[in-house]
Amino acid sequence: MLLEISGITSHYGRIQALRGIDVEVREGELVALVGANGAGKTTLLRGISGVQPLTAGTIKFDGKDITRMPADARVALGIAQVPEGRQVFGPMSVEDNLRLGAYRRKGDDVEADMKRMYDMFPILFKKRELPAGTLSGGQQQMLAIARALMSHPRLLLLDEPSMGLAPLLVQEIFDAVVALKEAGTTIFLVEQNAYAALAIADRGYVLETGSVVMSDSGKTLLADERIKEAYLGL
Ligand code: ATP
Repeated sequence: MLLEISGITSHYGRIQALRGIDVEVREGELVALVGANGAGKTTLLRGISGVQPLTAGTIKFDGKDITRMPADARVALGIAQVPEGRQVFGPMSVEDNLRLGAYRRKGDDVEADMKRMYDMFPILFKKRELPAGTLSGGQQQMLAIARALMSHPRLLLLDEPSMGLAPLLVQEIFDAVVALKEAGTTIFLVEQNAYAALAIADRGYVLETGSVVMSDSGKTLLADERIKEAYLGL
């Protein structure tokens, strides 16, 4: 088990955003967490990366209790988050944004990794000298993911990568996520786009007002009548 979350709660003042969450991610898995606006998805991710204080529960990473570990130490352990809204460095070139992702590593094989990223996202190679801020939303999302991968994460946390993207680009991003999984990356994907996320996930969790209300294989959840009605608009 790579990530083991047990009974975590989190509050914003008197508002309880997480109400006792249990989530597990095994090495090599692609796990999706879906839920409506305000369900607590971002709060959970921020709890895993260590920027959101928890009020109860434990988080273990690779068997080690990281519940009280500062965020930067979690990054050093190999937990990389791609935040919602991408947040690339606009004035810096695409290439420099990618290099930043490798800043914790010594000179070793950074160039080889850049090439790997460019092979995965050829548009980034084409635009490598341009300021990242000139990229389209979908391209910035690709850059944000590629930048996170440059740190060789053991666990990649993706916060709503499809947000604000046209359907064709959503497909492209999710194809890239599948390719990453097939290359062996462990991924925890948080999405409002339940259909796209569950369709590619090994397993999924459904979050409602701070609680996990269902969990099963992606396929089973996709076929579930309650999910279809509540999240897929079918
Ligand atoms: P979204 O898709 O909009 O990001 P979400 O599922 O990620 O939604 P969260 O952002 O985690 O949901 O929010 C969970 C709950 O916590 C919501 O009820 C939200 O109103 C509340 N909340 C989030 N951030 C704050 C904050 N800074 N102060 C107070 N309440 C907050």
